[in-house]
Amino acid sequence: MGMSLEAKYEEFWRQAIKQLNDVVKATGLPIAPDEKGQYSLWYDVRELRLRFSISVERIKRFFEGLREGKIYATRCRRCGRYYFPPQADCPYCRVSDMDWVEISGEGELLTYTVINTKPLTFSHYPDYVVAIARMREGFNVLAWLRVDDPRKARVGMKVKLQVVKREPEGYLTYEFVPIE
Ligand SMILES: [Zn+2]
Repeated sequence: MGMSLEAKYEEFWRQAIKQLNDVVKATGLPIAPDEKGQYSLWYDVRELRLRFSISVERIKRFFEGLREGKIYATRCRRCGRYYFPPQADCPYCRVSDMDWVEISGEGELLTYTVINTKPLTFSHYPDYVVAIARMREGFNVLAWLRVDDPRKARVGMKVKLQVVKREPEGYLTYEFVPIE
């Protein structure tokens, strides 16, 4: 499937560094006008590699669910609010008294946007659709909408939140899939 992710990143940095070097060579400073030629911009290229880890200990039931093909929300036992992605605490009641609830996944698209200008770490994906749907249970979920053509997205369309494998990384996550 063409260039690997690593090769694409390398190419991005190679280009950025080359542009910077060209500017420095021509002017003696890393300063160049912006795209419209209105403002002087200081250019710099530094690679920031970020490796992060966050504890999912208290919501690991959710990830176990993905492996079983199930999608869980948490629901506060006191006020009945749903949390998705799941949270271990209810900020309204200030308690950690939660039920794990498998959700139907059935919902209706409220709004969506097609992402064609992507952040670097998403630049290897084809244009994708980020959508918000109202779930049958009465709460909203933000997720990608899996369509072969972004023009097929429609407000009001019936969708199902499903466990999918995100390629090329190959990890399990959830996306809306049209069910009409
Ligand atoms: Zn609550």
